[in-house]
Amino acid sequence: VKKKLLVSLLGAAMVASLVSGCGGGKKSGKKTVGIAMPTKTLERWNRDGSYLEKQFKDKGYDVSLKFSDNKIDQQVKDIEGLIADDVDLLVIAAIDGESLTKVLDDAKEEDIPVISYDRLIRNTEAVSYYVSFDNYRVGQLQGEFVRDQLDLDNAAGPFNIEFTAGDPADNNAGFFFNGAFDTLKPYIDSGKLVIKSGQNTFDQVATKAWDTATAMTRFQNILGSNYSSDKLDVALCSNDSTALGVAQAIETDYNQDNKADIIVTGQDGDEANLKNMVDGKQTMTVYKAVANEAVATLDLGEKLLKGEKPDAKLIDDAGWKFTCKYDTESYDNGKKKVPSYLLEPTIVTKENMDKELVDTGYYTKDDQGYLH
Ligand code: BGC
Repeated sequence: VKKKLLVSLLGAAMVASLVSGCGGGKKSGKKTVGIAMPTKTLERWNRDGSYLEKQFKDKGYDVSLKFSDNKIDQQVKDIEGLIADDVDLLVIAAIDGESLTKVLDDAKEEDIPVISYDRLIRNTEAVSYYVSFDNYRVGQLQGEFVRDQLDLDNAAGPFNIEFTAGDPADNNAGFFFNGAFDTLKPYIDSGKLVIKSGQNTFDQVATKAWDTATAMTRFQNILGSNYSSDKLDVALCSNDSTALGVAQAIETDYNQDNKADIIVTGQDGDEANLKNMVDGKQTMTVYKAVANEAVATLDLGEKLLKGEKPDAKLIDDAGWKFTCKYDTESYDNGKKKVPSYLLEPTIVTKENMDKELVDTGYYTKDDQGYLH
């Protein structure tokens, strides 16, 4: 608003000289991309932040990268700062998908395009596009993995399963849970899969801030109350940070002889979880190549910086080597259906880990384990 007022009062030339004093990027005459990531404490966002920064810098843009310590107010302040610095594009992975409405009104006012990165930002028209993986598919892959491992269509069962989901503030968390739950629901309904704790809704199994210790404590309680004489067969966890806590709880608080056979799912391919998979404490992870998510964001971002309106054609033009679908229906943020570029996730197990992660160049492997 301020900027527009000045335009009418002082004229474009004076504004240009004023603006050039505040944004680092403007001084160099380059366009600037503001990137807001949730936190450095969960492994993947460090990777996203550095991939995105490198991608845009390599193409000649200035980049201002913020991590907001998983604090909602901090992220709002960080985004306010980026807007005040007059960035030309915002790439945001929201901590709380519902809390950015006001600050993004300012971005819209300033005509700054916004890419909602990985997590959908809700209740605002200001979001131009969404880049993510197919989040429902992530959950489906976890559910299908459990179905196939237990051979649910043929085995007699029953098998005991417990669910652990993610942060209710993260729009993705419900998609992951629903993808897994919908896949397994027929077996739950027929009694072949049993949830002994009775915790079968998203709200009951959610984990605030995707926190490892929170997931661990909840699971210790579940084990203590339900599995002192009955066996647990599956711990379906939506991601790796929660799977880490659940595996820890199984390690310390579960004393039956099938400990090594419990199926524990995850998502992300965090280094600690890959180690757990090698050690037999986690069975699978859904891998999402965030390096590719950054490439998609760059190609989309460049079009937006040029004032273009990308659509499905971007996928053909870019010639990506990874699978990505353009979806204008699935992600309604409460104000609009946000056009989305959704990449395809993959199942990684101990058996295919080298092929999927090392041969593809995403990780290296040494005595320490799998490293980025
Ligand atoms: C991401 C996951 C991640 C989780 C916790 C989600 O929004 O899509 O990859 O595990 O946040 O950081």
